[in-house]
Amino acid sequence: MNILDRYHAMDYGPAPEARNEADAWLAARDFSKALFIGGDWKAASSGKTFDTSEPSSGKLLAKVSDANAADIDAAVAAATKALPKWSASSGYIRAKVLYAIGRAMQRHQRLFAVLESIDNGKPIRESRDIDVPLAIRHFIHHAGWAQALDRDFPGHKGVGVVGQIIPWNFPLLMLAWKIAPALAAGCTVVLKPAEFTPLTAILFADICERAGVPKGGVNIVQGGPEAGAAIVNHPGIQKIAFTGSSEVGKIIRKATAGSGKKLSLELGGKSAFIVFEDADLDSAVEGLVDGIWFNQGQVCCAGSRLLVQEGIADSLIAKVKTRMSRLRVGSPLDKNTDIGPLVDATQLDRVKGLVAEGARQGAICWQPDAALPSTGYYHLPTLATGVSPANILAQEEVFGPVLATMTFRNTEEAIELANNTRYGLAASVWSENVNLALHVAPQLKAGVVWVNGTNMFDAACGFGGYRESGFGREGGREGMFEYLAAKLPLGPVIKPAMPSAQPIEQSDGDVIDRTAKLFIGGKQVRPDGNYSLGIATAKGKLAGEVGLGSRKDIRDAVSAARACKAWPEATAYNRSQVLYYLAENLSGRAAEFAARLTELTGATAKAARDEVEQSIERLFLYAGLADKFEGRVHQPPARAVTLALHEPVGVVGIVAPDASPLLGLVSLVAPALAMGNTVVAVPSERYPLLATDLYQVIEYSDVPAGAINIVTGRTAELAGVLAKHDDVDGLWVFADAETCAKAEAESIGNLKRVWSGNGRGLDWASDEAAGDAFLRRAIEVKNVWVPYGD
Ligand code: NAD
Repeated sequence: MNILDRYHAMDYGPAPEARNEADAWLAARDFSKALFIGGDWKAASSGKTFDTSEPSSGKLLAKVSDANAADIDAAVAAATKALPKWSASSGYIRAKVLYAIGRAMQRHQRLFAVLESIDNGKPIRESRDIDVPLAIRHFIHHAGWAQALDRDFPGHKGVGVVGQIIPWNFPLLMLAWKIAPALAAGCTVVLKPAEFTPLTAILFADICERAGVPKGGVNIVQGGPEAGAAIVNHPGIQKIAFTGSSEVGKIIRKATAGSGKKLSLELGGKSAFIVFEDADLDSAVEGLVDGIWFNQGQVCCAGSRLLVQEGIADSLIAKVKTRMSRLRVGSPLDKNTDIGPLVDATQLDRVKGLVAEGARQGAICWQPDAALPSTGYYHLPTLATGVSPANILAQEEVFGPVLATMTFRNTEEAIELANNTRYGLAASVWSENVNLALHVAPQLKAGVVWVNGTNMFDAACGFGGYRESGFGREGGREGMFEYLAAKLPLGPVIKPAMPSAQPIEQSDGDVIDRTAKLFIGGKQVRPDGNYSLGIATAKGKLAGEVGLGSRKDIRDAVSAARACKAWPEATAYNRSQVLYYLAENLSGRAAEFAARLTELTGATAKAARDEVEQSIERLFLYAGLADKFEGRVHQPPARAVTLALHEPVGVVGIVAPDASPLLGLVSLVAPALAMGNTVVAVPSERYPLLATDLYQVIEYSDVPAGAINIVTGRTAELAGVLAKHDDVDGLWVFADAETCAKAEAESIGNLKRVWSGNGRGLDWASDEAAGDAFLRRAIEVKNVWVPYGD
């Protein structure tokens, strides 16, 4: 046998990781007392337990306490008790605790990794080299944020008691992503791991005790959907942070509507892995192995859709198949294993079912010729070709080792295919031409884009989605905001609009009738229904009539806003100039607007002049900030820079208040415009004439058609239409409590970002009713990872 034969004959022998420490830990614990509440280990009050078993063998690992609503009550009570002291403690004290957690985890790193692989089935190489080190990094990174709160988040405070619910695919890492920022912000926590993977959270609770987390600061409850729902609905919780499926995310969005709870949702994905013909194909294939076969594809941001440029499709697919044939499927505790079992029999059945359905719909599903272990929930890596864009494998999140492949001809087609999904979590772009990659990245509807790489994460770089992948970010500065609240100056409680029972008296005098129309796509248009709404002066006389907008008018306005490309694509400097010009033109008609305010609201002449002046000032402010509220560059511990770009949310619906009808409207519309959003505004129901007067100013201020659309009419009805409209990306509602709650509940179709005043207005005249808090809501942060070096 020559050296070459020897080389080819070489095989990997078994390289098992020792599991005796983990088995000893399992044997020593009483899992019937697995609820960590107020610093004590408790049994479930019902006495019930659930089973957790080992995915590689199906064998029972433990019977774990199953929490119910009474246990959640106890955990929330413990977190509430611990809150005052923890939130008042200095940043330095909190930093020391977070650092101690990180250090203690380092000391037990191997036990965490082995337990994670036993409980979840992920290869030990991954839990040892990725999950656990990243979790540790998260705590150590957030120790710094605890001390930097006053410096970096002035005027902000921790939100209070937070409820956190996590999935089974990265049990310890998801726990770290949740608990570290919450503790840094001064919040106390009730966290529920997924029922398939309770173990590393139990070991983590041990660490909390040792690291000096005060009793009740971190409470870890075990259980399934019932315990999760009890957390979501608990009135003593001020914020819910959820990671899991989009389906459950929507249930949670609905359940928390109107509760005033802060909410972040990290949901599913169907991420595109785009390979251009000038890519380094061998690197792309290695990237793909990480992108879709990492953690058996049970990764929210898995690159599960391979989009490959036509000219290189055959050679890339051939390389992928060769590489797939070399993936080693086997025991998660073998250090050479690439692919372990799926987490559970139900997950295996789901993946098999989706593959069968994909094949039935025309996909050709290929698997390497490899033997599966005789026990456990294994699924071979699978490549689906000939996949049409509508195929279930191209649309549904499989959450398994299944790659769907499609081809594209040119850049535009690649972007279109990549965005042809209801999700928007991540994307990978492969090209040796970095200009092309950075041209494509901003056009992808995804919260994270990796250039010539995949699945890169860091505690300093935000992670999170667009669209049905949820909202909110985890990690870094953006992630801290999710656990902090700034005090906005509250205004009065908003009462529901009541159409007047009395007919409005005709006004005296010799005036030429003028009926204000709607303003859609840069044109004044009649309402579709051809109905009008009489608007009374402060003295009850008819001031004029406005169009009674309907569902159809909102639809037209949303289409116009979506079609307007000139505004989001304009430079920030250009947007700034247009906003300045708007301010200038409003200033030219200030006296007229002040008179209108007095006529309609009965405000004194001075108060009316002040409101107009402040509206002009606010336009000036946002004109000036348009090119200043910029993103950042992160330098993660990798050979890469991460560009945290600020992108507009998209089409934003704005339901403006009656109080300060001009200033309130301007205070909401101007920041949305400044950041490049297009707007559909529903102005105050009682005083819409100020908005219809305003569009006359808009018309000659160089605002592109469709950037601002104004639909007058009934607030509650139009807010509901905007909430349900799947092409509206964000919705800001300052209306009565019922309208706000309904808007949140009805937003679940596309999981649009809703900012609701919860039935309260703001003190619009206050300086605090302007600035970063508004701009932050007008943007999405997209993190683009750009590696460097050869
Ligand atoms: P899941 O939604 O079924 O469960 C997630 C968690 O929610 C579990 O703890 C579960 O017990 C709990 N839960 C279930 N029903 C509930 C209810 N009605 N109310 C409250 N809690 C409830 O998701 P899963 O199957 O555990 O995890 C897989 C999903 O998680 C995938 O869709 C994946 O993409 C997503 N995920 C997203 C991210 C991200 O950062 N975006 C990260 C990891 C996983």
